[in-house]
Amino acid sequence: MSTTSTTSRTSRTSTWRNWAGNVSARPAREVSPASAEEVADAVRRAAEDGLRVKTAGTGHSFTAIAATDGLLIRPDLLTGIRRVDRTAMTVTVESGTPLKRLNAALAREGLSLTNMGDIMEQTVAGATSTGTHGTGRDSASIAAQIRELELVTADGTLLTCSEKENPEVFAAARIGLGALGVVTAITFAVEPLFLLSAREEPMAFEKVTADFDELFAENEHFEFYWFPHTGNCNTKRNNRSAGPAAPPGAVSAWIEDELLSNGLFQVVNSLGRAVPATIPAIAKVSSKALSARTYTDIPYKVFTSPRRVRFVEMEYALPREACVAALREVRAMVDRSPLRVSFPVEVRTAPADDIALSTASGRESAYIAVHMYKGTPYQAYFTAVERIMTAHGGRPHWGKVHTRDAEYLAGAYPRFGEFTALRDRLDPDRRFANDYLRRVLG
Ligand SMILES: Cc1cc2nc3c(=O)[nH]c(=O)nc-3n(C[C@H](O)[C@H](O)[C@H](O)COP(=O)(O)OP(=O)(O)OC[C@H]3O[C@@H](n4cnc5c(N)ncnc54)[C@H](O)[C@@H]3O)c2cc1C
Repeated sequence: MSTTSTTSRTSRTSTWRNWAGNVSARPAREVSPASAEEVADAVRRAAEDGLRVKTAGTGHSFTAIAATDGLLIRPDLLTGIRRVDRTAMTVTVESGTPLKRLNAALAREGLSLTNMGDIMEQTVAGATSTGTHGTGRDSASIAAQIRELELVTADGTLLTCSEKENPEVFAAARIGLGALGVVTAITFAVEPLFLLSAREEPMAFEKVTADFDELFAENEHFEFYWFPHTGNCNTKRNNRSAGPAAPPGAVSAWIEDELLSNGLFQVVNSLGRAVPATIPAIAKVSSKALSARTYTDIPYKVFTSPRRVRFVEMEYALPREACVAALREVRAMVDRSPLRVSFPVEVRTAPADDIALSTASGRESAYIAVHMYKGTPYQAYFTAVERIMTAHGGRPHWGKVHTRDAEYLAGAYPRFGEFTALRDRLDPDRRFANDYLRRVLG
């Protein structure tokens, strides 16, 4: 497995848009470098021309974190597996490699990441830069699985960091928000490919919330969805299995993943957007549509599924012990408001990690995520939920809609000053700044 060597492309610019369609930008220049040297060259030339620099992944962030009016570095040619080290049990990949390509390549080698989020469209650098996570009792975000990182800093230097080499950079740059440099390669810890058994089961809101601590403690990966306007939830428990593999049958997979989670869900959401008054009645039916099922498969096939219905999302990390109280407050708020919400609220967990600006930095966390169908006004709902989350000391996902600024975030993250001091050292002229980073980092 090696990277095909191509040379950098500079192209005429067009409007850049994110996946959700709520952020667009008009970069002054675009380039698709094919190597770390070409990235360094592009950064130096941008500095000479007084342009700010931003590298985009696949635009799956809902915030303007990847937007720029300066030089946009596209990841298309920075892809591929550099090396697999079976002694160290690591894989080194080019930073623009989509997670789906990494997952498939690892599976072919009989290897896997330990944990991942619920889709695999993002690039490895895009996903890790904002702290993309799945759910886990013992295993944390994708960035927490990084063992070494290579990045081009503002003066064009290629810097490698790990626990041993430049450890102060490693402590922050694994979730660097694109603020510390352009990541060119990432080395992840891997393990022998294993099997996960998924058990999906509807459960009443009162039962999930009453039993949350046990459900969390008894499962390696527990998550659930609550359907607003109903007392219904769907739960998902993933645990390692000795096998044999028993993937969902083709028909069952199509019904659950395509028809109910995408096709029909799209129709239901479009109807709800046109006639919001129908949403509570539809929610009562649709929350019961998904039935209990179990299946066993390799990790990425269990963790991830296609998400074709477009939406806008906000997600907050809370101290895990605050999760149930906060979720009950969200439910009470929705019940007494005129809001009509057609998307389920998602609850996941993560263990504490050691990354400065990880949403789980230094604390056991639970995540509460709210979504609105694309094109539906989301401000009133998100504002009301955000008020609840911030009252519980919540930390917003860096890639999902929120209104927090540097003052709030400095209070929410004990190691905020460590990150900004490193930024001052690596990027004193703010080559990698944009409006979003000015708001959240100052
Ligand atoms: C349908 C959907 C499902 C999602 N599911 C999850 C989930 O399960 N869990 C979760 O936590 N999040 C989830 N997200 C959010 C998503 O994972 C993050 O927003 C992620 O950052 C997007 O990655 P991307 O490749 O699209 O990067 P972008 O959104 O394009 O960029 C994100 C940031 O990374 C920076 N960046 C990208 N490449 C580089 C580089 N080479 N060097 C330096 N900086 C770089 C960008 O500048 C920007 O700051 C989901 C989003 C969508 C739309």
